[in-house]
Amino acid sequence: MTTTEELLTTLKRILPQDQVSVNQTILEQHSRDESYHTPSLPDIVVFPKTTEEVSKIMKLASQFKVPVIPFGRGTSLEGHVIPYNKGITIDFSLMNKVLEIREHDFLVRVQPGVTRTQLNKELKRYGLFFSVDPGADATLGGMAATNASGTTSVKYGVMRDQVRDLEVVLADGTVIHTGNMAAKSSSGLHLNGLFVGSEGTLGCFTELTLRVYGIPEYILAARASFPTVHDAVSAVVGILSAGIPIARVELVDESSMKQVNLFSDTDYQEKPTLFLEFHGNEAGLKQDVEFMKEIVADCQCEGIVFETDQAALNRLWEARHNLAYAYIHGYPGKKMMITDVCLPISELAGAIEHARKELNKHGLTGGIVGHVGDGNFHTILMIDMNNLEEISKADEFNESIVLYALERGGTCTGEHGVGVGKQKYQEKEHGKALQVMEKIKLALDPENLLNPNKIMKL
Ligand SMILES: Cc1cc2nc3c(=O)[nH]c(=O)nc-3n(C[C@H](O)[C@H](O)[C@H](O)COP(=O)(O)OP(=O)(O)OC[C@H]3O[C@@H](n4cnc5c(N)ncnc54)[C@H](O)[C@@H]3O)c2cc1C
Repeated sequence: MTTTEELLTTLKRILPQDQVSVNQTILEQHSRDESYHTPSLPDIVVFPKTTEEVSKIMKLASQFKVPVIPFGRGTSLEGHVIPYNKGITIDFSLMNKVLEIREHDFLVRVQPGVTRTQLNKELKRYGLFFSVDPGADATLGGMAATNASGTTSVKYGVMRDQVRDLEVVLADGTVIHTGNMAAKSSSGLHLNGLFVGSEGTLGCFTELTLRVYGIPEYILAARASFPTVHDAVSAVVGILSAGIPIARVELVDESSMKQVNLFSDTDYQEKPTLFLEFHGNEAGLKQDVEFMKEIVADCQCEGIVFETDQAALNRLWEARHNLAYAYIHGYPGKKMMITDVCLPISELAGAIEHARKELNKHGLTGGIVGHVGDGNFHTILMIDMNNLEEISKADEFNESIVLYALERGGTCTGEHGVGVGKQKYQEKEHGKALQVMEKIKLALDPENLLNPNKIMKL
């Protein structure tokens, strides 16, 4: 009997049969994510329902010395969940319950397989919402593991700012809690900060306690068009320096506005555009909006359209959220490669111009979009993965964008994470600190079984 057969038999003893699979289709579904990275099959996929089951799986994996890959919805973008070392993929989709809504504490306790839209549906009747909104309908476990963010982070922060506590199963099956329900704590080392963003390499999250917010009394959105991307970015810097409490500010360049109109059946102006949103009360926002209008006018704004009607608001943000899918749809047969640098705001305009120049220089197809309120932007490239020359141009382009950001105090990834795709930049970005990260990884996972060779190659 091979190790995998022995492992399979033992897994079927500790888990109900229907929660253990070697079905080819299931293996294939867990062999890739939404990235361009080459897929690879796991040996076995398991679907635990409880923390105890996850702990038993980890103990078994440690006994058999087989790798374990935690899996949310597989929407990651740098090969995070691809099991290149094979082993067991743990799919958390059956741990999808909202366990507790503490409306007066603005806290929720959820299982990791709950998705962000599922949570917001449940929170709505309490007048609450969960703020972090990546473009994909990801799980909260996956979002915590990648320290995800989205369009609202300029006001509400990223995933790390929302996590109060994580229940984590470690490589040896031990169960710990990394935090508590208090709004702040100076007790011990900040494990929340360490585990959030660890990409499944330090432990499996089996429960999350997250911060939620009251749904604003008044929401106003706007679409502002500009002659150039530079003008649009100057307007963003102007709005932020004026201290206007903007809730969302997203840049979409002209070629991406074309994709939006094609995919979302909208007829927006195909110019560099800012998607803006304000949260507050009507009276208070009136002044902010007047001030914002002056600032964008000073930046050559060519037109601004306001939306307050809920349906129009939803259509606007759906169009923005679906942008990556618009590109996938617009370029059949091509694969999506997305850059994700984040820089200090003062460096943003220069970085975006550099990206546009490099795109043209390499003759690559793609658009520039981003959460510019945070200094984070993406270049969405559509690549023919059978065309080696195009792939190497895309890699060169990616490298030039990242080096530009690192030389100006930025990072190679603002929100998507490292996975396998951004490993090659870790040494340059972190220097000796990378060795500290490797020591922490091996202290918690001495056999390197948890999502091996992601973030760092050991
Ligand atoms: C169209 C599109 C738009 C996107 N837009 C954004 C965006 O705006 N902002 C953004 O930040 N990201 C964005 N992403 C990337 C992606 O959605 C996020 O990285 C998301 O957090 C991944 O969540 P997931 O549930 O799909 O996790 P997966 O992709 O399944 O896993 C991601 C990582 O989390 C680990 N993991 C999953 N579950 C657990 C668990 N329970 N315990 C421990 N580790 C776990 C995995 O091992 C892996 O390393 C986008 C992706 C797509 C396809």
